Amino acid sequence: MNVLEIRGLGVDYLSNTGAVHAVDDVSLDLRRGEILGLAGESGSGKSTLANAVARLLRPPAAITAGSVVYRPREGDPVDVLELGKRDLRAFRWKELAVVFQSAMNSLNPVGTIGAQIDDVLRIHRPGMARKDRQERAVELLQRVGISADRRRGYPHELSGGMRQRAAIAIALALNPEIIIMDEPTTALDVVVQRDILLEISALRAEYGFAVVFITHDLSLLMEISDRIAIMYGGRLVETGTTASLKQAPRHPYTLGLLRSFPRLHGPREELLGIPGTPPDLRSLPPGCAFHPRCRLAMPECAERRPVLKPGPEGEVACLLNDGAGAVQLEERS
Ligand code: SF4
Repeated sequence: MNVLEIRGLGVDYLSNTGAVHAVDDVSLDLRRGEILGLAGESGSGKSTLANAVARLLRPPAAITAGSVVYRPREGDPVDVLELGKRDLRAFRWKELAVVFQSAMNSLNPVGTIGAQIDDVLRIHRPGMARKDRQERAVELLQRVGISADRRRGYPHELSGGMRQRAAIAIALALNPEIIIMDEPTTALDVVVQRDILLEISALRAEYGFAVVFITHDLSLLMEISDRIAIMYGGRLVETGTTASLKQAPRHPYTLGLLRSFPRLHGPREELLGIPGTPPDLRSLPPGCAFHPRCRLAMPECAERRPVLKPGPEGEVACLLNDGAGAVQLEERS
C-alpha cells in the first residue's frame, strides 16, 4: 500500500532571468515500509524533490504544480502541500522525518545529543514524563549504536559517523512512517558508510518505516533499496525494482550510471561512464534532455521528448523503449 503519492510535482527556482524548472512533472509512489532509492547526478533535482515533499523549500524555490498526499488510500488522507504551519510542524516529526548529509549542520552545536532528542519528545509528546523521555533517548541512542553515556556529549565531540547515527536517532524519536535521507553517508568513509547502511536496513525491518534514500551513488542504492527512481534534468527517467534496474536497465542514463563503477561480482566489463556534464537547467536541450550525452541517441531524440511509459517492473522515458528494451540496450551500448 502506498504511504505517499506524489503527482505531477513541479518546483521552480525563480530568478530575474526567469524560472528554472528544478523538478518537472514528477509522479512517484512510496510504499509502506520500503526503501526507495532516488539517484541522479548533481542538479538532477533529487534533493529539491525531497525538500518539496518535506515542505522545506525556501525562496527562491517554489512549488508550482502537483500534489503530495500522505496515506492516500486510508480514511483520512493528508494533503501535505496544503498543511498549515502548526499541522506541518507536527507532520514533520511524527509522520515524516529528514536526515541530512551533514549532521553537523542539522544538529544544534550548543546542545547535547540527549537534550536534542529530549526537545523533540517534549514538544511533540507534552504528556510524557521526564524520566520516560530520558529512557527513550537512551533507548534510541543504543538502538543506533551509541552508548548511553554519549547522550551528554555535544556534536563536535562525536565522530562523523556518530553524528550521523545521532541524527538518525533523533529522526526515529516519534516513530515516523517516512524518513527522507538526503546523502546521509556521503561524507563518511566506506567502512562507516557500510555500517550505517546496515543499521538503516535493520531499523527499517524493526520499525517498519519507509525510506526515501537520496544519493548520486547508484552502487550504494543497489545494496539497500527495494526500488529505485532515476532523475535527470529535473525529471524522472526510469523507475523499477532494484533487481530489474541492475539486471536490465532500460534507460541509457541508468546504464551509464551502472557502468560508472566496477562490479564486485560477475564477469569483468568495461567501465563506460557518461560523457559530458549534467545539463544546465536554465536551458535544457530540446527533445530528450539526455541526447547530447547519450551513446544511443537517434536523430529524433533531439526533437521528441520521451514520456514515462510503464514496463514490466516500472517506468522508463526513452524513445528506445518502443524496441526490444533492455537486451537491445545492452547489446547496442
Ligand atoms: Fe538516448 Fe534517445 Fe533514449 Fe534519450 S530518448 S535516452 S537520447 S535513446
